[in-house]
Amino acid sequence: MTNEKEKVQLRFLGAAGVVTGSKTLLQTVNYKILIDCGLFQGNKSERKLNKVKHLPFQPAELDAIIITHGHLDHCGYLPVLVKKGFRGPIYATAPTCDITETILHDSASIQEEDTREKNRRREQKGKKPVKPLYRSKHVDLTMELFQNCQENEWVQVKEDVKLRFQKSGHILGSASIELQCQNRTFIFSGDVGQQMPLILDAPHRFNSADYIIMESTYGDKLHDSSISPYQAIQDVVNQTFEKGGSLIIPSFAVERAQEIIMLLNNLMEEKSIPPLPIYLDSPMGKNVTQIFQKYRQWHNLTDTECDNLTQNVHVVSSFEETLQVLDADGPKQKIIIAGSGMVTGGRILYYLKQLVGDEKNTVLLVGHQSEGTRGHQLSSGAPSIRIDGDAYEVKAEVTQIGSLSAHGDQADLLWWLKPLKESPKQVFLNHGEPASANVLKGKIEEMHKSLKVTVAEMDRVYEV
Ligand SMILES: [Zn+2]
Repeated sequence: MTNEKEKVQLRFLGAAGVVTGSKTLLQTVNYKILIDCGLFQGNKSERKLNKVKHLPFQPAELDAIIITHGHLDHCGYLPVLVKKGFRGPIYATAPTCDITETILHDSASIQEEDTREKNRRREQKGKKPVKPLYRSKHVDLTMELFQNCQENEWVQVKEDVKLRFQKSGHILGSASIELQCQNRTFIFSGDVGQQMPLILDAPHRFNSADYIIMESTYGDKLHDSSISPYQAIQDVVNQTFEKGGSLIIPSFAVERAQEIIMLLNNLMEEKSIPPLPIYLDSPMGKNVTQIFQKYRQWHNLTDTECDNLTQNVHVVSSFEETLQVLDADGPKQKIIIAGSGMVTGGRILYYLKQLVGDEKNTVLLVGHQSEGTRGHQLSSGAPSIRIDGDAYEVKAEVTQIGSLSAHGDQADLLWWLKPLKESPKQVFLNHGEPASANVLKGKIEEMHKSLKVTVAEMDRVYEV
């Protein structure tokens, strides 16, 4: 029997039954360590969970935080804990540290702006003003606590706790965490990419572990692999060029924008598509591209491909430049890549206002489009979309590429788990809607008959 001193508890404080708000607490008699510290994003009831009163600990009690990658649903809650007293170390890979900094500053300024707007309305109703979840100054404080880690190098966190990061093929710097504690090995998968990511190394696979905490986002889906991303982009650019129109690509700033630019550059180089001017209009996309150029050992772009991410592209910084790109005097046919990826906000809205009503143009959606977003409306064939209160008729052709995804599908997740054979005592599935986690559980049990697989429940304490 495990004695009291050796007990380890796992508690899922987010990304259990949902895909946002990733936070897993690992607790021993001596320590409290948080793995990922994500913001709840989804609907209003999910966002309410961002209130600090829901946490089962005081932020100052935490001994350390470990971050798998720089997406907001994995790191976006860090400044709240810092604002409320956390001062311990935050461990992450070096590119994750840089991406987190740019994404948290963006998040802080969006929250400050939203709060200003909300308070204007509250004032009119005679209500007290509210505060944003955090401000830029809290992000600065957070960044001081980061400890950059190398890939595959053990880091001693506490006397009997050590960890190392291994690439997970999801976004630049993303990693799974191997953590040894109380003579047990835990693996936290973080978000796992496809077996053959476009511009990253394949996810690292582990051979042994006692406990695995694994994501299940696409546990019930297979990506469309009928057409390669190269072919799909080539076809859509050529078709749009023949119509005499422009191509508008709403894109996520991290990873997707760089993948698209690399594909376009290579296709132009081999003359498979015409040399249209490419505009990247996303301040965050620009920052992340610079992080790609800084950490060349963390992706598999050649030096030329990496340099060309900015050399062959017109990087738009200011809003005045956006207006210049839209100016009728500029090049008539062009390729525009702008945020946000699901058309919920950002500069893409200005381009769509002007270009979505012309049948010569094409809107290319390159990622998952959540329900309730303009991206989802476009992908479902909506005849018009509303932007800033006005309706815009959708006459441009709308097309979507299904094979570009930063997440592995069901086959990729099973491939990731396969070398572990019978060794783990238990697998916990998190970061997935209940349907996908349950389907994946069934598939894993089919593959490894003796393996205990548990779909993690929110806030429940698991003793291991
Ligand atoms: Zn992610």
